[in-house]
Amino acid sequence: TQTAAPAGTQRSAHLFARARAVTPGGVNSPVRAFDAVGGTPRFIASARGAWLTDVDGTAYVDLIGSWGPMLLGHAHPEVQAAVAEAVARGTSYGTPTVPEVELAEEIVSRAPIEAIRFVSSGTEATMSAIRLARGFTGRDLVVKFAGCYHGHVDALLASAGSGLATFAEPGNASPSTPGVPASATELTLVLPYNDRTAVEAAFAEHGDRIACLITEAAPGNMGVVPPAPGFNAFLAETCARHGALFVSDEVMTGFRASRLGQWGLDGAVEGWRPDLMTFGKVMGGGFPAAAFGGRADVMAALSPQGPVYQAGTLSGNPVATTAGLTTLRLATEEVYTYLHQVGDVVKAGAAEALAAAGVPHTIQSTGTMFSVFFTGEAVTDFAGAQRQDLPAYAAFFHAMLDRGIHLPPSAYEAWFLSAAHDDRAVQTILDALPAAAEAAARA
Ligand code: PMP
Repeated sequence: TQTAAPAGTQRSAHLFARARAVTPGGVNSPVRAFDAVGGTPRFIASARGAWLTDVDGTAYVDLIGSWGPMLLGHAHPEVQAAVAEAVARGTSYGTPTVPEVELAEEIVSRAPIEAIRFVSSGTEATMSAIRLARGFTGRDLVVKFAGCYHGHVDALLASAGSGLATFAEPGNASPSTPGVPASATELTLVLPYNDRTAVEAAFAEHGDRIACLITEAAPGNMGVVPPAPGFNAFLAETCARHGALFVSDEVMTGFRASRLGQWGLDGAVEGWRPDLMTFGKVMGGGFPAAAFGGRADVMAALSPQGPVYQAGTLSGNPVATTAGLTTLRLATEEVYTYLHQVGDVVKAGAAEALAAAGVPHTIQSTGTMFSVFFTGEAVTDFAGAQRQDLPAYAAFFHAMLDRGIHLPPSAYEAWFLSAAHDDRAVQTILDALPAAAEAAARA
């Protein structure tokens, strides 16, 4: 059965029907299907700067930014040119190349890591970082936080359920999806975010068995939940005290929250560094590229230098690393200053519109990253994020979409701006907000 598509979405609706016939849910990543907000996903035909254009010819101001990568906006001329030149030289050789060395040097010079290995997705980066941490320490347990997403790694698709006030015992971190055997998550401890007591208790009990603690440097996958002041430093210190590795997942925050990622906002100021880090999104410039890196002695355990195996046919792909390198070189301090400015304008506009309509909301930021929660209370962990009014968000989302703004189709996501969000794009957002807030109030 097919519901009538709104005016001007016929081609998207038709493509969605075709897609559903050959692909589960019609999409290649679940949230694209609009399951959380209802309706027909827009099939995008092209994008430039801050704008997406769908197959029905409708233009939208893009606040998804490919879920993070498009820091400079779409089809940036210099990135396009560098990619075109790279493509002209051939697209993959399965041998070492120049751009992967240059991108490695660029990231090693910016991030508090000594060595790096490229992969093709954030999932591979966190999966490999955990394998390396286990191989290096000779320990098996992994600690993660509820509401943090590290890709679809079996061992990390675990949540502690609703018992968030007490730390999890090994064995009671149940898989959050069928297909992940309990044996894959029984070595994972899931703790509530921002909860020092839970971390201390978990390490007191199991410290000598913990290979690593992995956390989003600042969670962005339950909406933006900044670490409490000193929380990351506390995690780094706790791990060090127990001989566990501190793995900071900067797939989303890296080169986004600031030029130096979330680490630039806390570690660089407070004087600590993670043992391992993971990167993705911005560093691939819109291509499949991601990485993990860290301490030289830990990275030396990686194959072929050391015994821990890890590999990839397209890892360090010359087109993807060229796109990433060009993007990072263009991501100057001015870009982040601008992202702060437009972010402040959009946040103020959203706050004003939602307040005027009487919609409970909380806007949270870390560096240039922010999200709007549809709850009146500050969100410090996943339980707080889950107290959002999801129907209100769905109404808000569709009212914005109808007015030419494409928000993420989920209330649990950051709103991604880019350096290409100019006055016209921002004004389009501001103009749409009051009516969208009214729609949320009526939901
Ligand atoms: N870690 C974080 C913090 C992420 O935000 C994501 C993706 N949203 C991932 C890992 C997984 O990356 P990918 O989707 O490229 O596998």
